[in-house]
This record gives sequence, structure tokens and C-alpha cells, in this order.
Amino acid sequence: MTQFDTILIVDWSGGNDRGPKPVADAIWAGVAREGVPQAPVYLRNRDAALIWITDFFRAELGARRRVFAGFDFPFAYPHGFAKALTGTDNPLAIWDWLETHITDSPTANNRFQIAGHINQVLGGGGPFWGNAGRTDVPGLARNKSGYELAFPERRATERLASGSFSCWQLAGAGAVGSQVLMGLPVLSQLRREFSDALAVWPFSPATAPITLAEVWPAPHVGPAPDGMIKDAWQVQDYARQISLLSPKAMTDLLDITSPEEGWIFGIPSPKPLKNDCFALPAGVHWTPVTEALSLLKSRLRPVTAVQSLPVTQATGTIAADDVLARRANPPLPNTAVDGYGFAGGRGDGLHVLPLARGRAAAGDAPGALPPGQALRVLTGAALPAGVDTVVLQEDITLSENQIAFHGPIKQGANTRRAGEDVTQGTRILRAGQRIRPPEAALLTATGVATVRSYAPLRVAVLSTGDELAEAGDTAQDGQIFDANRPMLLNLIRNFGHTPVDLGRVPDNPDMLRARLDQAAGQADAILTSGGASAGDKDHVSAVLSDAGAMTLWRIAIKPGRPLALGMWQGTPVFGLPGNPVAALICTLIFARPALAVLAGQDWPEPMGFDVPAAFQKSKKPGRSEYLRAHYADGTVQVFSSEGSGRISGLSWANGLVELPPGAAEIRPGDKVRFLPFTSFGLTP
Ligand code: AMP
Ligand code: MG
Repeated sequence: MTQFDTILIVDWSGGNDRGPKPVADAIWAGVAREGVPQAPVYLRNRDAALIWITDFFRAELGARRRVFAGFDFPFAYPHGFAKALTGTDNPLAIWDWLETHITDSPTANNRFQIAGHINQVLGGGGPFWGNAGRTDVPGLARNKSGYELAFPERRATERLASGSFSCWQLAGAGAVGSQVLMGLPVLSQLRREFSDALAVWPFSPATAPITLAEVWPAPHVGPAPDGMIKDAWQVQDYARQISLLSPKAMTDLLDITSPEEGWIFGIPSPKPLKNDCFALPAGVHWTPVTEALSLLKSRLRPVTAVQSLPVTQATGTIAADDVLARRANPPLPNTAVDGYGFAGGRGDGLHVLPLARGRAAAGDAPGALPPGQALRVLTGAALPAGVDTVVLQEDITLSENQIAFHGPIKQGANTRRAGEDVTQGTRILRAGQRIRPPEAALLTATGVATVRSYAPLRVAVLSTGDELAEAGDTAQDGQIFDANRPMLLNLIRNFGHTPVDLGRVPDNPDMLRARLDQAAGQADAILTSGGASAGDKDHVSAVLSDAGAMTLWRIAIKPGRPLALGMWQGTPVFGLPGNPVAALICTLIFARPALAVLAGQDWPEPMGFDVPAAFQKSKKPGRSEYLRAHYADGTVQVFSSEGSGRISGLSWANGLVELPPGAAEIRPGDKVRFLPFTSFGLTP
């Protein structure tokens, strides 16, 4: 079925020889062709595995069969590690490095020593941790306390694979770190042995006769049949499943570029944005705000992974799927008040009903009430059979065995119908909707305990400019404090994303490039401020232009200089103006909705209100204007100065007045559009 004739899946082990009798947690190999699995092969140690796999590959090559060989451990480490250890970003350099440094035999190996050695070479404290041996190892912490990590904890693919372990952890149940250290040297030998006949995916395309790929069988495979060792079952069944993939499905799953961190085969990757996604139609000089916004809206889409989370943890995230009610709300008819329940309405006049024993309270399973009687019922109780109407306790007189009240009372009074709020199967959440506390209640009430939502968007913030000094430092003459970064980092948090502080760089293209490289490895989107126009010192736009995927968006907006929108290594960059006022307004108007879409959210429109102006202004035609505004007591005032360096006006304001592109003469009392800061997500 697939473009591969044979699927081999290997469950690896970082430990010593496991003896001649098949056991769990050893090395297991599963082979399948066209949906037909073979009996799994037990391999007692890595020497045995290397010999068996080598023979197997030779036989397959001899039979001219194309092989997909999946191994269940990471083929690469998180961003930055290859470079730090080997001086190159190429993860295969780590394979070579480990092959020369790791010593291995069925009874002993030096993996903990090598991990400790790497920690020491890289400055100590990490990245590796965990030691299952009896003796302490120099450089290797036994547990995570006092541990410092200079690299990401997980690779991009692992962030999409919930339940995966960090490859820095070498000991403890489920840890995968030892398997990597003890697996890559073996794969490195296979790679040399089969040279041109073998490709390592995704570092090379899967076009050679043999493709090695990293796999993770557990999430794809059900429980083992009785009496079968779990590892044996997993390799057998996952090999069978992969051998049944259609060529199209296989091609899609292999269509991944991750040259440094590798990828777990079978984890779908969010499709990257195209490099031309910020291109503008040729010949356009000043793009109106609404047009710029609809361009952004049409070009962008979600870039983060989808995760399954319990509702409580999912609150604040963006739903990735529509969700239907699993249960009606209320699930059964019940009483809305404390009172007495009976069957049917009653007309005018006095009614006396005998009182049945007992009562129905919230949580009780509904019983039954004989006709003609009444029963004590408490708010939320499911109505017993024979009760469809409830009279308020305040409206009756109670004597020993009966109640009396005056009609009329309608049939159904004071009760709630089953499903009157939500019927089973109703859509209660849309993909793209933020899950707020009310949604948490609705989901839970209708029987939904977990939801699939987008992982938070990581947004890097970087300031540029020779003139900038860091908050807390002494600013020299001519320097100003970097005010944009704290503002932008906090805006990102207010928008519900994860801020990544990338500090600041002077107006130096090399340093800027290096910092953007770093940002692209750590974030899903990048906000820079300063240097975004077309002048001599505008290195952000120069560097992005050199990279070939930038457009200067000249948007007809005041305040605002051109926005430099570009792509850096597949990561979208929003080059904001340096002026704090323009930076804030451009972020609220353009970056916020764009980031929302990248995060999987519906395009957010700020909620605005038409309110009487408490100011006077004559506006020229051409640009949309956003004025710092303060709303109080039913009218809105604007800041005395429109100077875009006046940060105090931002702090004075509780929103913006939005003036459309046309000319306008605004007099006190005229209605103007007020957009409260809170409607952009800013916390009040
Ligand atoms: P630029 O866009 O780099 O030409 O900067 C425009 C104006 O904004 C200049 O006056 C800069 O000094 C100022 N500026 C740039 N970045 C920041 C920042 N991070 N904080 C405060 N002011 C800034
Ligand atoms: Mg500057």
C-alpha cells in the first residue's frame, strides 16, 4: 500500500543484556508487509540488535524491497544542542560524536559518564540529569534540583506529543534519555554500513531504499492481547498499521521539514506559513486599515499544535474542534424552587392535596408519586414520575398530612424541562472560540471533560536601537530606556499568549540576524520594535528584506510608520514602529488579530461604542486615526497632544477613539467611536 514494501518497528532499550528468554523492556523488532505482521523478534542486547538489523537490511536490499525502519527514540535533541556540542546544527554530527564517545557491551556502558562529561563541557549544571547507577557521576545531577537548562526542554515535535519525555532525563520510569545515548551510536553504525542506500528522515527525504525514522508506537496501539508482552505487541501492531497507510497518507506524514530537531513520524505537523504570506498587491501605496486587516485575515492560519486537556486546564485556551453536548442540560426535568410537586395544573379556588411521605432533593434518583398526592421537593431535584408542577413553599399551608393552596397554577409551573437549556448533541463550542470560565461551566454541565485546544502561541518580543538602555541600568546621555519591551511582553500575556523575552539589540544587522535566529527557534511569532522604516538605521526592514520575505506595509493609519511584515525561517515577524504610542496602537489594531489567528482563534473585532465627544477636532481626509482617549461619565475626552512619543497619554487613556479615513469636523456632543482598552483584551 505505502511506497514502502517492508515496515520494521524497533522498540529500543538503553539497559544491559536481558538474557536469552524474551522479556519486557528489552529490544523488540516487528516486521509487517501489506498489513501482514510477522512474529515479533526478541533481541537481548544492542550487539544482537545491530547484527539482526544489519542482516535484515541486507536481505531486504537483496530482495529489492524498500524499507521503512522506525525506532522509538529521538533522533535529535532540542534546538541549539547540536551546535553547542559539535559546532554545527546538523544533528547527524551528534550521531558521529556519540559513536566515538560511547562505549557499550552487553554488561556495561558509559552513558552516565558521557552525559556528565557533556554537561561539564557545556558549562555544568545540565542539560542532562538523572543517574540510575550506584555511584555518583561527575557533572550529572541525580535529580532535577539545582539543574539549569540552557536549551529547550522539548523539541517542537515533542510539544505536540502529549505524554512524551524530555530526552535530557536519563533515569526514572519512562525516561527516554538513555535510549537516545545508547541508540544513536548503533544507528550511526548502520548509517555508515549502508551509506547511500540509507536515508535518515526527516534530515533527508525518505527516497533511499532504506529510511530510518523516529516513531512512537504507544499512542497508536491498543492494549496487548492476553499473554503477549506489551513491547512485542506494540512493534508488531504498529508495523502492521504503517504498512496499511495509503501512499497519500504516508506522503503527508513524511512531508515535514525539521532539519535540526527531527520529528516523530505520525505526529501531524501544523502546516507552516508560506514565505509570501505578507506580500502586497504591486503598485499599492497606502493601504487602508480595513484592507490591511482583511489581507492579514485571509493570509494567516493557526500554527500551534493541538493538545487534549481536561476542561479546567483548557480554560483560557482556544478550542481546536467544535464540541457537541454529550448530555442535555438539565438532563432530567427538575424543580426550579423549594416547594411541593404534583401532577397537572389547578384552576381558581382552594386545593387540598394529601402529602406523600419522604421528599425529593437534588441528587436523588427520581422515584414515583401516586396520582392525587403532593410531595415535598427541593430546588434541583429531578421530578419523580407523576410530578410535573410545583407550588412554591411560600404559597401553601402545611398541616400534618396535607397541603392547601389557592389556584390557579399552570401545569409545569416552577419546573425546568429536560434539555430546556441545551439538548444533547447541540454544538456548545466552536473551533476558534476561547474557552472562558463560562465555557468551562457549559462544557462540564453537558458532560464534556476534555477538549482539544491549541497549545499557547509563543510570541517573542525584541527591541532594537542603539539608543536603548535596559530598565534598572544607568542611562547615559543620549540614551533612553527600552519602554516598548515591557509594554509588549505584557500585552502578549493580556492577549492570552506566552511571551518570550528576547531582550534588545543595537542597530547592528549581524546581531539582529543572530537574535532572530534564536527567536525563530523559540517562538511561533516575533514582534520587534524600532528600525522598521526604510531609513539608514532601519535594520529590521533591511535584514528581513535581505532574507527575501518581507513587505513594508504602508498603512494609512495615524499614528504609525510602515509596518515591516516578514518571515524569518518560517516564523512570522511583525516589525512595529519604535515610537511607543505607534507601537502600542499598531499592536492593538494589527498584531493582536493576526496573533489571534496564528493561535487558532477567530478573528477578534474589538467591541466599540458610539459615545458623545467631549472634545473638538478637525480631521483631514486620508488616514484612519486612533486617538488616546479617556471615557468617563458618558463622554469621551482625547489626550491633549497627538505627539507619538507621549507615553503619559497612553497611561492616561482607557481606550482609543477611532476616526475613519474621511475628513471630519468633530464638535463636543458629536458621536465618536470609542474602543475601550479592555475590548482589546487589556486587563482593566
Ligand atoms: P525607530 O522606529 O527605530 O526609528 O524609532 C522611532 C522612535 O522611537 C525613536 O525616537 C526611538 O528612540 C524610539 N524608540 C525606539 N524603540 C524604543 C523603545 N524600545 N522604547 C522607547 N522608545 C523607543
Ligand atoms: Mg531605531
